[in-house]
Amino acid sequence: MRAWAEINIKNLEHNINIIKNISNNHDILGILKADAYGHGAIEISKILKKNGIKIFGVASVDEAIELRKNGIKDDILILGCVLSDEYDDIIKYNIIITVASFENIKNIEKYKIYPRIHIAIDTGMGRRGFFSEEFLKAYNYIKNNKIAKIEGIYSHFSVADVEEEKKYTINQLREFEKLTHNIEVKYKHISNSAGIINYLDKTNSNLIRPGIALYGINTTKKELDLRNVLKFKSRIVHLKKIDKPRYISYMKKYLAKEGEVIATISAGYADGVKRAFSNKGYVKIHNVKCKIVGLVCMDQFMVSIDSSIVDKVKLGDEVIIYDENISELASMIDTIPYELLTSLTKRVKRVYL
Ligand SMILES: *Cc1c(COP(=O)(O)O)cnc(C)c1O
Repeated sequence: MRAWAEINIKNLEHNINIIKNISNNHDILGILKADAYGHGAIEISKILKKNGIKIFGVASVDEAIELRKNGIKDDILILGCVLSDEYDDIIKYNIIITVASFENIKNIEKYKIYPRIHIAIDTGMGRRGFFSEEFLKAYNYIKNNKIAKIEGIYSHFSVADVEEEKKYTINQLREFEKLTHNIEVKYKHISNSAGIINYLDKTNSNLIRPGIALYGINTTKKELDLRNVLKFKSRIVHLKKIDKPRYISYMKKYLAKEGEVIATISAGYADGVKRAFSNKGYVKIHNVKCKIVGLVCMDQFMVSIDSSIVDKVKLGDEVIIYDENISELASMIDTIPYELLTSLTKRVKRVYL
């Protein structure tokens, strides 16, 4: 294989247990959007199910249908928007949708689909959801006119992983609590991974929505034994000792020195090696960091072999593009581990261990 992702099921199960332990009796909605953050939604859904998770969150109707077609009969909530031409599928596949605006209400009323819904409140995320001031009007309208079956009410944090923004997050919590505490509904939920780790003990919710924490990434400063699930790997497919100064890759962005050993790795930006890592990132070979040199190409990139391993490296050697260092690498190019994981393309074979 030229580029692949190893997915460690034991570590995933370990993370589920860690989340269960801090969740004191909350039900868990496992976030599977974006192909389970690049880990493969179908395989991951089966493991979550085996570990007692009975409700799943996705971004779109297509993602929900994919799970249904692969044997997931449990509740699936679409967190993103659903358009009226997708309503037939919502009913056919028995999928729960999010209602986040009066526009949404008008539509489900117009098409008389009487869907199962969760209502979203915007307590500070500024994305979708009713403003706090509008929420009761929306809730009462749906309830009084019996246009949908309300199974949940939720909100979403915007800065739950940022210690300095504690006040903002607590305000979101208070707002959510104030609006929902008199309402009887199956599920109330607000916590993403960072919310679970930092604020769960302060909420009135009974459901949590972990995503990135399942996959072993702690976005908070709290100590927690989460274990990395995905290792992105490739191989050395060409190896050369530089005989005189020579340019490496497109646009002459790196000049290799005489004596330097340069390896070509068989993965590129079309696999999910961000081009921003050009002349910036590093990979691990024989557990030693080797710098990425020159521009990352579509299917290949080059690294300078660290002098401590020049006698050891050979063609075909395994290269770790990232594993538990994913957060460090993401910050080197001003992004977040979420984006690196969801940048892995179809060409990268997922291998389940
Ligand atoms: C993606 C998402 C989550 C999961 O967030 P993590 O930070 O990965 O835990 C939870 N809730 C909503 C609404 C989301 O869109």
